[in-house]
Amino acid sequence: TPRVVVVGSGQAGFEAAVSLRGHGFDGAISLIGDESGVPYQRPPLSKAYLHSEPDRDSLALRPARYFTEHDIELRCGKPVARLHRIDRRVELVDGSTADYDHLILATGARNRRLPVPGADAAGVHYLRTAAEAEALTAQMKACSSLVVIGAGFIGLEVAAAARKNGLPVTVVEAMARPMARALTETMSQFYSSLHLAHGVDLRLSTGVERIVVDDGHARGVITCDGETIPADAVVIGIGVVPNTELAEHAELRVANGIVVDAHLRTSDERISAIGDCAAFPGVSDEGLVRLESVQNAVDQARCIAAQLTGTETAYRSVPWFWSEQYEAKLQIAGLTTGTDTSVVRGSVADGAFSVFCFRQGRLLGVESVNKPRDHMAARKMLACTMPLTPEQARDVDFDLKHSLS
Ligand code: FAD
Repeated sequence: TPRVVVVGSGQAGFEAAVSLRGHGFDGAISLIGDESGVPYQRPPLSKAYLHSEPDRDSLALRPARYFTEHDIELRCGKPVARLHRIDRRVELVDGSTADYDHLILATGARNRRLPVPGADAAGVHYLRTAAEAEALTAQMKACSSLVVIGAGFIGLEVAAAARKNGLPVTVVEAMARPMARALTETMSQFYSSLHLAHGVDLRLSTGVERIVVDDGHARGVITCDGETIPADAVVIGIGVVPNTELAEHAELRVANGIVVDAHLRTSDERISAIGDCAAFPGVSDEGLVRLESVQNAVDQARCIAAQLTGTETAYRSVPWFWSEQYEAKLQIAGLTTGTDTSVVRGSVADGAFSVFCFRQGRLLGVESVNKPRDHMAARKMLACTMPLTPEQARDVDFDLKHSLS
């Protein structure tokens, strides 16, 4: 019988295993992950999980019995250390092995470390795993103020959760606006105002020079402007780096991610890569794309499972993403980098609006706050590449939904 080995038991690896069985694959499946326990979801870790009692079961993507019932071998707690491509075998750190006919690399990404003095002191947190979220939750209960370094999605979600717990929060961000890498200026401004209104002290356009440490414990940060911001807990959220080492050592192509083709195959056709670790060709002219989202992890997993069970299909899903901060639910459809024209539909003041983003008259993506209908319509429009003009987007009487039918 054919054997599929999946390395990485996060969102993508889990979905690949489940989806293979869902497509009727009856060969052997091994899901190998270095974290302990069953695969779990990460999005709650920077949201509700931070202000509720830690409950791992609530994060689990499936209970343990699911894996036995579906004959998915779950080997967790030990990393894969090496790929032997010629033998079609992976080797774990303890020397145990697994043979494959097809290998799926779903190794995800890890937090980018902040290279400043003091970053390894007690009270300094990163957030990627359930264990890290639990450590942070405990610290947030015990501390009297928090500094968040990095105003990306995770940093700002943590700031919102901390404010919900009544904790004074300062956010320090090197760029001139929050979430600048992913969002339009309009949306960044909206979220700046929202955080200020909730009492967050937002310091933009300045980095952190060092973390102040007293007796081994973080006591605050010194910014590049020379200012000291006292705090007894620090969260660093400055992005991630893809886990590509296994692929690199096996001489697969790597360029900010494990490079795959439109069918998610690496330079070795028996090896595919999916999720946060994979760099794949974008559908238009944007070159290689690497996305960090549940949608991408899940849809790429389904795509490779379909291929391995006989449906030849390229990966073409419309990207979408969400973030929750206070009462504002952000949803993004498409990729908005390279936008030359953006149009607001709805009311920014009321916190219910969308930003439609165009390049050379073509719709690239839509950012929505508390406008789930706009978001769903946008996903459909982008999927069928329906033409929409900036004028139509701006006109609230223009019915997005009906224009699709
Ligand atoms: P991961 O989930 O990171 O899984 C990879 C797994 O592989 C990890 O368990 C890793 O330890 C393991 N691994 C790595 N190397 C090895 C090895 N050599 N051997 C064995 N195992 C290995 N996305 C959204 O769309 N919306 C959100 O609101 C959102 N919120 C998020 C909040 C937080 C706090 C975080 C951390 C992420 C969030 N994301 C969100 C992103 C989303 O969770 C990721 O895009 C998704 O988990 C990617 O899945 P993945 O399987 O590619 O990677």
